[in-house]
Amino acid sequence: MSEHEHVQEHEHVQEHERELAVRAGELDASDELAGVRKQFVLDEVVYLDGNSLGALPAAVPGRVDDVVRRQWGSLRIRSWDESGWWTAPERIGDRIAPLVGAAAGQIVVGDSTSVNVFKALVGAVRMAGEGRDEILVDATTFPTDGYIAESAARMTGCALRPLAPAEVPGALSGRTAAVLLNHVDYRTGRLHDLPSLTAAVHAAGAVAVWDLCHSAGALPVGLDEHGVDLAVGCTYKYLNGGPGSPAYLYVRRDLQDRFDSPLPGWNSHAEPFGMRSEYEPASGALRGRVGTPDILSMLALEAALEVWDGVSIEAVRAKSLALTDFFLECVRAYAPAGRVESLTPPAHQERGSQVALRCGDAGDVMKSLIGRGVVGDFRHPDVLRFGFTPLYVGFGDVERAARVLGETLAEHAG
Ligand SMILES: *Cc1c(COP(=O)(O)O)cnc(C)c1O
Repeated sequence: MSEHEHVQEHEHVQEHERELAVRAGELDASDELAGVRKQFVLDEVVYLDGNSLGALPAAVPGRVDDVVRRQWGSLRIRSWDESGWWTAPERIGDRIAPLVGAAAGQIVVGDSTSVNVFKALVGAVRMAGEGRDEILVDATTFPTDGYIAESAARMTGCALRPLAPAEVPGALSGRTAAVLLNHVDYRTGRLHDLPSLTAAVHAAGAVAVWDLCHSAGALPVGLDEHGVDLAVGCTYKYLNGGPGSPAYLYVRRDLQDRFDSPLPGWNSHAEPFGMRSEYEPASGALRGRVGTPDILSMLALEAALEVWDGVSIEAVRAKSLALTDFFLECVRAYAPAGRVESLTPPAHQERGSQVALRCGDAGDVMKSLIGRGVVGDFRHPDVLRFGFTPLYVGFGDVERAARVLGETLAEHAG
């Protein structure tokens, strides 16, 4: 390239940067969710790790203070009734329900996702008909789901078959008892086709269990509409419930009487304070409860869910797709050619709310990015992961993140 061409090339890049920055400003100005950001505690950092730990909603510290000082400190034992502690798992489940397309009375909050995977999967196998002795599990799953599925299979006398979600329809048979799938792949951000996979599982007479950790709060799920049998999810990612906030379990209403929990604790008893020696399951969603609920985390989550008041999940999805499209466009413009490769499907119907970029030296690149105020995360061995929470991430943030990524990549040889 001649000196002259170099100058031209440089000017061209600068013009592109200006154009993208202007577009970001326009997109932010017409963003109907832009006002929600002020309900969060945020700073100058571009926070693209809400798919790992959602940011803090501003209402939470005051609520936690009230729960600890007044409800616990003054009311003490009376709070189980007077502060609504006892019924919190069902009440908060009903608050999550519309976000995942479920009518009230089908979701209960409590325990970790891992524990709920166990309850759901063993419950699913126990619901499946006689002679069904195989569990299919997403081989690309977040490892905990696979570990739990292996144990659930061993306990229920089933064989476990790990396979890619696309292989599920071909692997279903009269032997299949249950299928555990992820709605969005935690690593690549790929969105799996929940309606058609659920229909295929049902056509084979098996029970469908979905893990919603990376979709709930980011896109419409439609649990009731698509006839999902059981589902689980965490609340500290796109639902912003805080570190270790309790997970949830969905059991479709018409299956609740057949849900035979492998962890039938006293909180799921029909008469918990009867202290009877024989177990009789409660009816409804609360059959999924186990022991005493983790009230401090649970009520922090309840306060966090107030940011959803007046927000539609369809608007969140539309913004999420616009954010990830714009990020991919900015990365193409700013990243040195060939330096990163997107693992996130380009098609909207196959994309969650994150972008995963394969990149040499990814661990060090992410360290540099974080040092420059752009927080994503690194997934072994070579993935840069960026999560886009539409409630608080704007288009200006996206443009800045891609620009800083481009600068960082230019400095790291790879
Ligand atoms: C985040 C996540 C989990 C987390 O499980 P915990 O028991 O809450 O630690 C489980 N499964 C998937 C698919 C996840 O994305």
